[in-house]
Amino acid sequence: MTTSPLFYQAGPAMPEISHGRGVFLWDTQGKEYLDGCAGAISCNLGHGRGDIRDAMLAQLDRVAFTYRTQFENAPAVALAEALVEMTEGDLEKVFFVSSGSEAVESALKLARQYFVARDEPGRRHFVSLRPSYHGSTLGALGVTGYQPLEAPFADITSGSIKVPGPDFYRHRDGGRDAHVRRVLDDTRARIEAVGGDTIIAVVVEPVGGASTGARLVDRAYLEGLRTLCDEFGCLLIFDEVLCGVGRTGRWFAYQQWGVAPDLLTTAKGLGAGYYPVGALLCREAIVETVMASGGFQHGHTYAGNPLACATGLAAVEAIRREGLLDNVKARGDQLRRGLEALRSRYPWIGDVRGLGLLWGVELVMDPVEKTPFPAEANLFARVTALAKEEGLLVYPRRTLDGLAGDHFLVSPPFTISDRETDLLLERLARALERLDREVVTPLLG
Ligand code: PMP
Repeated sequence: MTTSPLFYQAGPAMPEISHGRGVFLWDTQGKEYLDGCAGAISCNLGHGRGDIRDAMLAQLDRVAFTYRTQFENAPAVALAEALVEMTEGDLEKVFFVSSGSEAVESALKLARQYFVARDEPGRRHFVSLRPSYHGSTLGALGVTGYQPLEAPFADITSGSIKVPGPDFYRHRDGGRDAHVRRVLDDTRARIEAVGGDTIIAVVVEPVGGASTGARLVDRAYLEGLRTLCDEFGCLLIFDEVLCGVGRTGRWFAYQQWGVAPDLLTTAKGLGAGYYPVGALLCREAIVETVMASGGFQHGHTYAGNPLACATGLAAVEAIRREGLLDNVKARGDQLRRGLEALRSRYPWIGDVRGLGLLWGVELVMDPVEKTPFPAEANLFARVTALAKEEGLLVYPRRTLDGLAGDHFLVSPPFTISDRETDLLLERLARALERLDREVVTPLLG
């Protein structure tokens, strides 16, 4: 008999948070937590911000909800303009949604409708990476490459052609460039096996999230994908639900490598954790084709409502006003140095990778062979629990696809200070020291 009617996940009872300020949260017992993963990599501006509250209240006082097919919506237009400006001319059109899954779902459907409108209905496959995460609705799950989430639904999702992405930690096939070439050749071969003219789009996270522990692509890989898509006449979709809106120190992660997509999804940090808001950004020509064919056959009731967009706009303005992209870069460097120092202390920290304030730490049993710890050791859960005891929140996962094993994300709010970054690293060091003593040493004998 459970005491709460909620069911999210099995596990021990959790503390309840009473309030949050900046990068800190306090539970009802008075324990302090440094939010080292910005909730679910979403509370990008930290907690309890008066400016966001004021912007939301001002909008609530005007009107919370108007429907997109009935009225113009000034906050939606302003946020769309801001997003377009953030792409520096790469993408011109915006479709609002309320979550990352909805953004991906919308991208998949718009891409398909584009080809139907162009009289190419034979295009019916998506290509995506394994491992990857693109959302939990059936369409977004279909392109997700994460076995435990896919398994119960494999028979009822439309699925996608899953290809390996670059893995700069584990690859053994020569240098970095040779690895990228091999990965791209493999993708080309799998596309050719079903026919390039049956592909709608290739979907990629420029920086992975929890499914890969912040695995990165590089310029050569994105250029290669862009070339493949152009050659096969299909679209390129970047899923920046997690890594977009400043998380990597640029407005969008892809800007790091200078290869633009045809469609881009973003959500999570867009509402900074204060209200759900996500967006699909696309090239104008795609939208024009779909609209000329009778309009996009898609939409969600709460999509881009005035309160959602006023919140998103206030969040984007705060990032601009406070120069937070610079802080993301500076604190990101500090975090990287600290995480690398921890890696040199413990051989079982196999890899530290990331960009800006999005860092993945991968734990391995054998640093030479890069073999993961046994699943039963539940290392990802143990490290998270120990960090929580030490007053630090990190975001854990175990990847079962490919060779990767336990990892966790460190991704604090953009507002984190120099001193708070040191505190994050101190608490993490204490948690890892306990992990070494209490878990890893007994395990390795
Ligand atoms: N795409 C990516 C890359 C994500 O990280 C996530 C969320 N973790 C989603 C899509 C789905 O977003 P949401 O949980 O808001 O539906």
